[in-house]
Amino acid sequence: MPYDASPLRYDSTKYHRVGHSGLKLPAISLGLWNNFGDDRPRATQRAILRRAFDLGITHFDLANNYGPEIGAAERNFGEIFADDFVPYRDEMIVSTKAGYTMGEGPYQDFGSRKYLISSLDASLDRMGLEYVDIYYHHRPDPETPIEETMGALATAVNSGKALYVGVSNYNPEQTLAAQEALAEYGIPLTIHQPRYNMFDRHIEDGLFPVLDQIGAGSIVFSPLAQGLLTDRYMDGTIPEGSRASEGRWLQPGPLSDTYLQRVRALNEIAQNRGQSLAQLALTWVLRHPQVTSALVGASSVAQLENNFAALEGAPLSDDELGAIEPLAVD
Ligand code: NDP
Repeated sequence: MPYDASPLRYDSTKYHRVGHSGLKLPAISLGLWNNFGDDRPRATQRAILRRAFDLGITHFDLANNYGPEIGAAERNFGEIFADDFVPYRDEMIVSTKAGYTMGEGPYQDFGSRKYLISSLDASLDRMGLEYVDIYYHHRPDPETPIEETMGALATAVNSGKALYVGVSNYNPEQTLAAQEALAEYGIPLTIHQPRYNMFDRHIEDGLFPVLDQIGAGSIVFSPLAQGLLTDRYMDGTIPEGSRASEGRWLQPGPLSDTYLQRVRALNEIAQNRGQSLAQLALTWVLRHPQVTSALVGASSVAQLENNFAALEGAPLSDDELGAIEPLAVD
């Protein structure tokens, strides 16, 4: 069936400005790290992407290494894009990244100019796109000078292959150094992509003031702690087909008594607000003005819709935040 995007798609999403830039992102964005590899049915992938866009989720986040196999998510996204989304390219924000291991040899890892430029070309080729909206350096490189890595991002912008650039997994000092290096080229560091959720609060320790200082926004990944902050594992078992059952990124280990006690208490707070636990977890990360967007994953349309409905919830009260505080620990 040919795809016609819903004419109502801009009616219910909230869009937030990314730092001091001209770019706005939906409050909830969709990541393709899992669920878009060659191990998942194409029909489900297509349904999730279509539903997301119909809900006004304009932002799709990829990376060169997302799969399985490595590169497959970009290729699968590209094929669905070619079928369904070409008329909507100007309404979409597509991001990709390079920085983790892509292959063997010295030119497919970390942050050299050689890797970042060749990887962007390969990503564009896999996705069938002429440019990405955001190009990220995926993780800091302890050996390559930051000037070289940021120079490569500047080249991506100046060659028209990326509109904005960002960094991911950089600490506050590394973020400042990246911003200073990019400023030499007159290019802003627009966005940071850190991990942030109730069970991983490390960015509260210094990143937010740096983002304010440099005028950058952030899009936080794994806001549901890969599913641990949902009802997926709340009964103490690991359902077949869940991320924990695959054991690749999420080990069955976390289902301890402490985990179950915390997650059930958080669920009670969510229920008192008329929300699912996932919705509470998303409302919680989005409470910071520096968090432009929460970057979720979804293995089904139902999960995506459940997450999206977080935007209908009331802001968290001081009492609710107080009740969450002792439960939201690493
Ligand atoms: P989440 O924390 O949102 O976890 C997503 C998983 O949680 C889903 O695959 C699903 O698990 C489960 N889930 C989601 N919604 C629900 C729901 N409503 N009810 C029950 N279970 C639910 O995010 P991810 O860890 O997937 O990361 C999101 C994105 O962030 C990635 O796709 C990627 O774009 C980005 N990212 C970036 C990184 C970086 O280094 N820059 C690192 C990691 C992620 P199940 O599959 O079991 O159904």
